[in-house]
Amino acid sequence: MYSPSSSCKHILDNLFDGVYCLDTNKRVTFWNRSAEIITGYTSDEAIANMHCTNMLAHTDQNGENLCENQCPVSLTLSDGLTRELNVFFRHKKGYRIPVSIRIFPLWAEDGSISGAVEAFVDNSPHETLFRELEQLKDKANIDQLTGLFTRRYGEIILNAKLAEHQLGGRSMAVLFADIDKFKTVNDVYGHHIGDVVLKTISKTLASAIREGDYVIRWGGEELLIVLTGTFNTAVLARVANKLRMLVQQTRISATGYVIEVTISIGATLTTSVDTLETLVSRADTLMYQSKRTGRNRVTVG
Ligand code: GH3
Ligand code: MG
Ligand code: MG
Repeated sequence: MYSPSSSCKHILDNLFDGVYCLDTNKRVTFWNRSAEIITGYTSDEAIANMHCTNMLAHTDQNGENLCENQCPVSLTLSDGLTRELNVFFRHKKGYRIPVSIRIFPLWAEDGSISGAVEAFVDNSPHETLFRELEQLKDKANIDQLTGLFTRRYGEIILNAKLAEHQLGGRSMAVLFADIDKFKTVNDVYGHHIGDVVLKTISKTLASAIREGDYVIRWGGEELLIVLTGTFNTAVLARVANKLRMLVQQTRISATGYVIEVTISIGATLTTSVDTLETLVSRADTLMYQSKRTGRNRVTVG
């Protein structure tokens, strides 16, 4: 029975593509990490199931269930040919996912077919968007002064994350941060030092977030932080306050001065009816509440 070596398994687990291996009885022998993410089934669950018995229910563009009559895996297992087609899977939660699949045979040393591999990519709009984003990460999307994502790129990220969340994904939060009394920093130390301050704070924030979270330069000295994970308002307040305090503790040394600045934050969780505009505007309004109530604060709503 084919099972990848551990180094091969590591590579397969780090692919964007879902990959699984089957033996000649169409029993799953391997199921990579992306297959778990795309289908919702863990490797253990998949291995315990037969390939075509009501698990992924491969369905073609006309709604025909391929597993019943013309299972492409069965065909490859019998004729040894590679097949590519666009189908729909059924996610563990029940909804349909458009995928492009590629099936190819595994050959035993004696020349017989020992199994098959099916590789697939999720063609859902937000997945396509995320893959494009990965490929697009170039200078145009990075703000030259701060090294943060630009607003244009930030809007794409926000829309993609919103779509993911509203399709039943993880919860998502947005923090709107604005530097307190930044005009005074510019007036006292000059615009160039103001730039250094902005750059240093951006670095503090970008280093403090987790992988998969984003800091965006939304406006002049307005930063938007996008967080995904399991949140409630208490957790959100804790994370936002941590970021606020990290900025407060940042020291900017420039031309003999040590400058300290603070930020005011508005933090909010995404709802199922949010659009990019309602989400950002709510976070902005909450940020102004933090300004009104004394600055260097977090308001969660
Ligand atoms: P507060 O937010 O606490 O109400 O006061 P503020 O002084 O920060 O006021 P506001 O947010 O309205 O002003 C932002 C200032 O930030 C105005 C602008 O001169 C400055 N600024 C915006 N972008 C940059 C930049 O890239 N570099 C520098 N040095 N300053 C910037
Ligand atoms: Mg401002
Ligand atoms: Mg400000």
